[in-house]
Amino acid sequence: MTKRLYYDSSEMHEFDSVVEDIAPASPEQSRTAVILRETAFYPTSGGQVHDTGWLTVNDGERLRVTEVAETEDGRIVHYLEVPAPVAGTAVHGSIDPERRRDHMQQHSGQHVLSAAFIDLYQMPTVSFHMAEDYCSIDMAVSAITSEQIAGAEKRANQIVFENRPVRIRYVSRAEAEKLGLRKMPPAERDELRLIEVADFDLSACGGTHVSSSGQIGSILLRKNEKVRQGTRVEFVCGGRAVRIARRDYSVLTEAAALFSTQLWDVPEQIRKSFDENKLLRKQKDDALDELAEFMALAALHDQPERNGRKIVVRVFSDRDIGFAKLFAQKVTRTATAAIALVASTTEPPGLVFAQTSGGAADSPADMGALLKQVLSPVGGRGGGSRDFAQGGVPPGIDVGQLLQRTADTIGT
Ligand SMILES: [Zn+2]
Repeated sequence: MTKRLYYDSSEMHEFDSVVEDIAPASPEQSRTAVILRETAFYPTSGGQVHDTGWLTVNDGERLRVTEVAETEDGRIVHYLEVPAPVAGTAVHGSIDPERRRDHMQQHSGQHVLSAAFIDLYQMPTVSFHMAEDYCSIDMAVSAITSEQIAGAEKRANQIVFENRPVRIRYVSRAEAEKLGLRKMPPAERDELRLIEVADFDLSACGGTHVSSSGQIGSILLRKNEKVRQGTRVEFVCGGRAVRIARRDYSVLTEAAALFSTQLWDVPEQIRKSFDENKLLRKQKDDALDELAEFMALAALHDQPERNGRKIVVRVFSDRDIGFAKLFAQKVTRTATAAIALVASTTEPPGLVFAQTSGGAADSPADMGALLKQVLSPVGGRGGGSRDFAQGGVPPGIDVGQLLQRTADTIGT
């Protein structure tokens, strides 16, 4: 097993060691891996992600450590982007202190937050996840209220502000059972490493933690959602909380500027905007309906009746197929029996054939069939029922001519 220097101090950022072994890195990766006699690098485990940093070898060459993992038998593997130094090489390790600080704030913050949820609402944490920009805990409860979120956040921050000591203790498993830990680890280990937030939380954990709760900075709860095993609560601590609050503020400021309003008025402005939009859409639809009606009446008025019906042919170059449809409906739903052969040439161009239901005695009978008959020689597609059919025409077709030919066919 690799000796873990971070067990006793999270503040150790520099250390000296020796390459003990070269670990087999997976063949598809172009990286190498080494195992050291001892290390301050934290490997991904227990919900906390790994450290990054450098190994400096004797001649001053610096090797980037991009990932750190642990093996089942307790060895810590440092992944490098370059050929690994041979076993026996002396190395000086340096971990990235900012990344370590961030992980300490998140992980200690998680302990305090999980304890606050137990303390106030008896909600146990079942798992912890640390991502690049946020963290989350899953709790074995089916739902959580916004009051409970706010309550746990307040209680957790109280513990932060009280700057309580956070200590590392080692006890036997038997002792640990008597101490009443928040969560007992499943591993069959004799000695347990405990993290204690004075008079608030005691749990077994191998992670890197702050030495006093004030170093967590702050704990900010964000989204919560239902997951398979209960409820997930997202949170951020310390520097992350500041960064994310800064980002949210910038976004909100931009939104407020668009509405020329204050930040807190943005939701109200969005609501107003939605309502206005809805109203405008309705007014537009009503106006188009009226326009289609007038245009249909005018077209019918101008069209002489032949064989007890009127055939209206119309090509719209400035209105879409939706309006063409509306116009065709208006033409065919008046007292006069009529056939409407309508097209729109705006994208995507299309045709609408409609006839008054029941129609005149000598109606061509089936609009769907007529449309198919007209479209198939020009490579268009469409179809419909006896009284209404709609289809698309390929580009480059003169729809005006197409409609006129159709009108001539059924008119004779
Ligand atoms: Zn932990």
